[in-house]
Amino acid sequence: MNTDALAVAVTNYMNLHLDRYLADLRTLVAIDSGTHHKPGVDAVQDWLQLRLDQLGFDVERLHQPVLGDNLLATRHGEGKRRILLLGHADTVFPVGTAAARPFRMEEGKVLGPGSCDMKAGLLSGIYAVEALDAAGYRDYATLLFLVVCDEEIHERCSLPLIRATARLADVAYTLEAAREWGHRHCPQDCRLGHGQGAGQGCARRR
Ligand SMILES: [Zn+2]
Repeated sequence: MNTDALAVAVTNYMNLHLDRYLADLRTLVAIDSGTHHKPGVDAVQDWLQLRLDQLGFDVERLHQPVLGDNLLATRHGEGKRRILLLGHADTVFPVGTAAARPFRMEEGKVLGPGSCDMKAGLLSGIYAVEALDAAGYRDYATLLFLVVCDEEIHERCSLPLIRATARLADVAYTLEAAREWGHRHCPQDCRLGHGQGAGQGCARRR
């Protein structure tokens, strides 16, 4: 399958499964996962771990005593490139925010704490893998899916893990959404110190 045909197949898959995607997003947005709320971040990681396991990844749960756990999932294909998908499970919002202003859709926009930054992005990564599977695409050597616990604070414990994982990859894509005008902003933390592709699609948006 050439690239254009693959893009059409992925787009069709996403359109076909949009309702399920939105139901999943509703589930994740309902979980308060502020960086310092370990039970919430861990609950998001529980959900992702199950989903990645179902997709055939070997999932490593990196337990942490204070902040939420990190997840590193790996699977192998039949190609040469090593690809990293990078995301974070935490948000900036305190406990109670999801109840106060829950997931909702207004004028075609999804609203709710952490919906854009970055639970929709995490799900987009999951659904991208599903779509590639459905298209029979396995032209990668390794697919790494790393979800860290602490993107929203300055004193980050996950940076060594991100850097070490990035060194295992040829290309890294962060799962942050772009702003509505398409601008991509790459904060310092997302620069992985690894030439190609790092920071693709990286933006800060609430
Ligand atoms: Zn983010």
